[in-house]
Amino acid sequence: MKKHFGAALVVAAGFGLVAADAAPSADSADGHIAAAQKAAGTDFPGTLARLCIQPADGADAQASRRNAAGGAAKPVARVIPDRATWYAAPVQVFDNLYWVGTKVHSSRALRTSAGIIIIDTLYNYAAEPEIVEGLKTLGLNPADIKYVIISHGHGDHDEGAKLLQDKYGAHIVMGAPDWDSIIKSNNMAGGVPRRDMTATDGQKLTLGDTTVTIITTPGHTPGTLSLLFPVKDRGKTLIAAYSGGTAFNFPRDPSHFDIYINSAEKFARAARAAGATVFLTNHSEFDEAYMKGRMLAARKPGEASPFAVGGDAIQRYFTVTAECAEAEKLHLKGS
Ligand SMILES: [Zn+2]
Repeated sequence: MKKHFGAALVVAAGFGLVAADAAPSADSADGHIAAAQKAAGTDFPGTLARLCIQPADGADAQASRRNAAGGAAKPVARVIPDRATWYAAPVQVFDNLYWVGTKVHSSRALRTSAGIIIIDTLYNYAAEPEIVEGLKTLGLNPADIKYVIISHGHGDHDEGAKLLQDKYGAHIVMGAPDWDSIIKSNNMAGGVPRRDMTATDGQKLTLGDTTVTIITTPGHTPGTLSLLFPVKDRGKTLIAAYSGGTAFNFPRDPSHFDIYINSAEKFARAARAAGATVFLTNHSEFDEAYMKGRMLAARKPGEASPFAVGGDAIQRYFTVTAECAEAEKLHLKGS
């Protein structure tokens, strides 16, 4: 804990500062935290705080506590939070991308020439008011939803899937291990969707004029998916990199951290190769989607979108996640 506290003090003192004492060795936990801190800069304070300062806390404990053991265990009681604590108004963030998330979790609608692709679906309680009603508020028709890509099988991203499958006949796309996991669940709020499309690494999902490239990034869950897709910003095409798994709420052993780190590096390479400059993920804690969405109202002509962080910042995001994972791996070993 002492090491975490020390890092927290450095963060609190201001980004870019280094500790007054001698620099830690690069291969120590403190060395990795220092590298993460440097990479985070002022762009990713939430990611740094979650992964390096308080890495022991599961980011989505409620999302992960679903019983996937296959019916024997008693379902976990569900507490639905007061709407005032989570409801957020929908926002158009790019010409063809709409944010329909809560204050905490993100769901997005990618509008194509042949219908809508929804990316992640929030908790069940938020799916209808945020996604269905949000699309209508933004002038879109939920009946146009053709595909729903679920980044991973945790409740804060997949519980709206069955609603969209049943109501609009949308195809649900997930990674194979996460399909296996949710199909066995006996307490998934909103119900378990029928098994549908299984994503593969490098798969290109095309709807009308838009293609989403799926990159498998196991780590956060075994079936986590990350995405690359084009967005239009005031008519100009930019490539968005969507990271599907964030926190370290997986079995805490070195091999799981290695899987996570490999995927961070893999997706960083894919994002660079694709020329991605827009960074998105599914928790506002990591990409500040809620706050940036609000900032758009004040965006001036000629000003860059707050979501267009640039290719270098995207690389630094994945450096933060990988370095924090390296630090936590060393903490597990007690170094
Ligand atoms: Zn999760």
